[in-house]
Amino acid sequence: MISRRALMVDSSGIRKVFDLAAKLKDPVNLSIGQPDFDVPEELKEEAIKAIKKGFNRYTVTQGIEELRFKVLEHIEKTRGKKYELSNVIITSGVSGGLLLALFSIINPGDEIVFFDPYFVMYKHLVNLLDGKPVIVDTYPDFKISEEKLKNAVNDKTKAIILNSPCNPTGYVYTQKDIETIVKIARERNILLISDEIYDGFVYDERFISPISFYDKVLILGGFSKTYAMTGWRLGYAVGDAELIAQMIKLQQYSFVCAPSPFQYAAVKALDFDTTHFRNAYKRKRDLVYEGLKEKFDVVKPGGAFYIYPALRKGSVDKFVELAISNNVLIIPGNVFSEKNTNFRISFAAKDEDILRGVDILNRIIDNF
Ligand code: PLP
Repeated sequence: MISRRALMVDSSGIRKVFDLAAKLKDPVNLSIGQPDFDVPEELKEEAIKAIKKGFNRYTVTQGIEELRFKVLEHIEKTRGKKYELSNVIITSGVSGGLLLALFSIINPGDEIVFFDPYFVMYKHLVNLLDGKPVIVDTYPDFKISEEKLKNAVNDKTKAIILNSPCNPTGYVYTQKDIETIVKIARERNILLISDEIYDGFVYDERFISPISFYDKVLILGGFSKTYAMTGWRLGYAVGDAELIAQMIKLQQYSFVCAPSPFQYAAVKALDFDTTHFRNAYKRKRDLVYEGLKEKFDVVKPGGAFYIYPALRKGSVDKFVELAISNNVLIIPGNVFSEKNTNFRISFAAKDEDILRGVDILNRIIDNF
């Protein structure tokens, strides 16, 4: 009954963690990829108002005009690039945007390049669409190597996906990283798909989008993380009008539209000042980094809410099992990578949980 495509997706790594976790009573949960704060009250009120006003039906497939204008205004303000309404679609999360974008560009055998470690969905979606994932190693510092990227692209390369700030490393691409990617993309006129879902969480440097250097970019942006609306399922894609038109067509026959009342609330979200969230998460970043750097090899994350420490010895699977049996939930690197040398911690957690978790990890590594 089950398709070859469905069977190709292996989620056993993460399932194992969740199975182990289910047995714990009150775990220190450092595994979750969503903020620990709730949607700001005034944005909840906007959603409630929209529901009460009767905005509960389908919207147009591409999303309501107010929100599309607002997204374009936001992109112009933050990235300095001006677009038309035909360049934007409101999607069901960045996940929806990713699926529609890849659906729109991949023919069987087409190659999609992305960087290891990577957001879990990239590899599975490319495989599901009969594309070929080409995965470029960025260990140990997560910087982009011109030579490695050059070797990865060829005539079959349809797109390069980049994700800065990155899940699972928290690494923020430098201008040099972006320029390297753009240089190689430009040589072969390759589309860049830029997953910018964590742009609201950048702590040290300025966030840089490849759109500042290159036109052939599809920006995928979202509301899930910045405003803690993961369950509202809202995102957007901004880019070439022809590609956006194909994505709209495919949305019509799949998601139909993004959730209506939340689209109205999201218009207000883009004006909401999130500095206090960013400052709180920067402090959490410092707590976890300072706490782990003595006993693990860690690259200080410049963004998102993840840190991706490497073990200096021993098996990551065994370490993660030991951490879980000591009540700390973390995720082994091979869920996000072709390698299994690191583990991911989400610091989107209460300060006391971060401190407790760091303490336990430091204790167990001493005897590991
Ligand atoms: N892209 C990255 C890098 C992510 O980490 C996530 C969520 O974890 C997503 C996309 C999907 O987000 P959503 O579909 O909630 O917008």
